[in-house]
Amino acid sequence: MTTIAAVPDLFVPQVLGEHLPVRLPDGREVGYANLDYAATAPCLATVAAAVNDLLPWYAGVHRGVGEASHRCTRAYEQARATVGDFVGARPDDEVVFTRNTTDALNLLARALPPGTVTVLWDGEHHANLLPWGRTLRLPAPASAEEAPAQLAAALARLSDPALVTVTGASNVTGEVWPVAELAAVAHRHGARIALDAAQLAAHRPISLRESTVDYVALSGHKMYAPFGCGVLIGRSDWLDEAPPYLAGGGATAAVSEHGRRVRWHTGPARHEAGTPNLLGAVALAAACTELAGADRAALDRREQALVDRLRSGLSRLPGVAELRQFTAGHDRVGIVSFAVTGVAGGDVSAHLAGRYGIGVRDGLFCAHPLVHRLLDEASARLERPLGDTAVRASIGLGTTTEHVDRLLTGLADLTPARRP
Ligand code: PMP
Repeated sequence: MTTIAAVPDLFVPQVLGEHLPVRLPDGREVGYANLDYAATAPCLATVAAAVNDLLPWYAGVHRGVGEASHRCTRAYEQARATVGDFVGARPDDEVVFTRNTTDALNLLARALPPGTVTVLWDGEHHANLLPWGRTLRLPAPASAEEAPAQLAAALARLSDPALVTVTGASNVTGEVWPVAELAAVAHRHGARIALDAAQLAAHRPISLRESTVDYVALSGHKMYAPFGCGVLIGRSDWLDEAPPYLAGGGATAAVSEHGRRVRWHTGPARHEAGTPNLLGAVALAAACTELAGADRAALDRREQALVDRLRSGLSRLPGVAELRQFTAGHDRVGIVSFAVTGVAGGDVSAHLAGRYGIGVRDGLFCAHPLVHRLLDEASARLERPLGDTAVRASIGLGTTTEHVDRLLTGLADLTPARRP
């Protein structure tokens, strides 16, 4: 079994709740094994500290004249700059705070110039599948390497202006998509490209400048900043020309008597009407600062060792099938979904929670078309029927070898070799 590579001086940023006690139904107490980072990640200690530091000064952003309001306005605008830097934004990109990735992608969908067709693959998360108007859905590529050629062929046939949208890393399989290659193809055909980085951002560095991606959407709560903030970052022209995402105060430059004529701001304010989520933005920026300052290559090596350990353990359990779109060796972040022959996903996760104090997710992970297909393909590989829901284990900064081993032990109880 893979051991965690010894990285002697590796500093792993600390998350809150690493040692939560869980009382099991049989009376035992165990430490909670959180293997559900892909759903929502625990809070970084530095994020909690940044929020706590600002709380005594909490006041209106962009609206007051006192010292507290000045501080909060500065903190909010500084957060915007920090988050932009974290994703390698270009100087003229806009950084618009939203509630989460879903909100950010819906905002982009509303800002598309008339006649734009959105091109995407069938397996996207619902947040990146459903908000768009006219879409051209491409079938799943046989391999990640095939995706750029497939996109080129589709765009060559399309005469309308297009936005390509793709996930950076699948929330079902953790598999990483070839984003920079897809961006090059999109631009060669005069299209733009958006990146759903909800899963990628916590695991891998992102650079809009280097990848030439036009827009990126991400969520604070998946990046250790659980205070209800997300962001859309990218080219300002479409955003400045679109109708405001929310109509209301803060988005308006001037409103005539009776509100009949309205002049809307351009820039981020256009889409951020209402009192902004200051603490969420500050939390997200604090997470960006902490992650950007960490040795991300070393953290990735640590994560890969944990994922390898988990996957090789799963592959040795009879009746357990991993879900994947691409080859078994394809690059992935710390997310692994699987199914157990003859046991529904919900029963697997209830067993792991009740007997082992483990938190995982079961179901179809808001990617129904993809999970249905991958379950069918996994059944065919295993030559045994699998249930119609899956289980997902996902890894983050607080995950340990013991958590992974405990999961494998818990699953071994359920596999055919062990069952009476
Ligand atoms: N895209 C992907 C790939 C995701 O995993 C998720 C969340 N599961 C989303 C989009 C939506 O994120 P949120 O729920 O934070 O809006």
